[in-house]
Amino acid sequence: MSTASVSAQKKGLWGGLALWKKIFIGMLAGVAVGAVMGPDAEILKPIGTLFINAIKMLIVPLVFCSLVVGVTAMQDSAKMGRMGVKAIVLYLMTTAVAITIGLGLGALLTPGDGLNMVASTTAAAASTEAPSLVSTILGLIPKNPIEALAGGKILQIIVFALGLGIALNMIGEKAEPAVQLFNSLAEAMYKLTELVMKFAPYGIFALMAWVAGKYGLDVLLPLLKVIGAVYLGCVVQVLLVYTGAVTLIAGLNPVKYLKGIVNAQMVAFSSTSSSGTLPVSIRCARENLGISKGTASFVLPLGATINMDGTALYQGVAALFVAQAFGIDLSTGDYLTIIATATLASIGTAGVPGAGLIMLSLVLTTVGLPMEGLAIIAGIDRILDMARTSVNVSGDLMVALLIGKSENEVDESIYNADEPVTELASIKV
Ligand code: ASP
Repeated sequence: MSTASVSAQKKGLWGGLALWKKIFIGMLAGVAVGAVMGPDAEILKPIGTLFINAIKMLIVPLVFCSLVVGVTAMQDSAKMGRMGVKAIVLYLMTTAVAITIGLGLGALLTPGDGLNMVASTTAAAASTEAPSLVSTILGLIPKNPIEALAGGKILQIIVFALGLGIALNMIGEKAEPAVQLFNSLAEAMYKLTELVMKFAPYGIFALMAWVAGKYGLDVLLPLLKVIGAVYLGCVVQVLLVYTGAVTLIAGLNPVKYLKGIVNAQMVAFSSTSSSGTLPVSIRCARENLGISKGTASFVLPLGATINMDGTALYQGVAALFVAQAFGIDLSTGDYLTIIATATLASIGTAGVPGAGLIMLSLVLTTVGLPMEGLAIIAGIDRILDMARTSVNVSGDLMVALLIGKSENEVDESIYNADEPVTELASIKV
């Protein structure tokens, strides 16, 4: 075999690997190199900074465009009135509960304690003074949206994007060119995100080398704690919050709900994409939970786009991990900001692998936490993504069940059946 074909094969081997595997390898290689080089590994850090800067570059346009698109895509759902409102309220409420659980577990298990990292940016200083509740609320409305965009004021950007999206929905046909423009910009931003993420294995390699070189291998145990905390939170969210809602609000047997959604959970776990899992979720909803076609095919796609409970929970744990690792105290205002940002940002999070990581950068920025923390989490992101996507999908199905029940759109003979019904023709549409 010629040298050229050998090298092509080698390139093919690395190039053919899934991104998350490359990131994982990058992380392990970074830890190994850092352990060997010690503090000298700092020379690699600029490569990591390049990656962090590229992610920062994405935040404002990505959030703005995808939020406007998210709201304008809900135009049809607005027509469906009551059901749409119920779905959105339930989706936002369950997301806020999820992030609160994430913050609670992060505070309880303190995965980042003892890391004593030092931020190289000064952003950390921003979180020291707690703004009053009134000023926080007043500050949500940007007096000048361009200034909010330029200054990266995420909450203000979210509020403006939501308002713009709603206004576009209200002007009907006249909105078409703008909606198209935002759609195409959002697509371009997703593409740019994909390109930046291609660089992630190298950026993360460099950052992990720097972290391991500076802090030693002690950094690994906290990462295991992060994984433990996120998985525990996911179990709590599904087994307590969701089954609790199914039992208490819908008055249905929670075991049937859990059994009925297993397929969707498994597909979500392995694919880490709630949008990709949608066809399976719809099947589970109809065949196992007895939810009518109309309800399932309206509530579930909406959920796959705007409901990200697992992602929010993960952001809670991750934000506290970063705060603890860098020894930054968060105020009550910061906690509330994290809850608000993660809940609202989940509307703009695409149900695709790794989207939550980009949104985490947004949450960290909003409360002034250092972005270096993101790189540490990024190395284990796939493992966390598997759990959070399963929860995202379980949450969508739970809300669909609740809404179906309240609208009398659940066939309880199917819900309570021992075997799944495969003859969908018999299901009420
Ligand atoms: N992968 C998740 C989903 O598709 C989003 C995320 O990265 O948190 O639901």
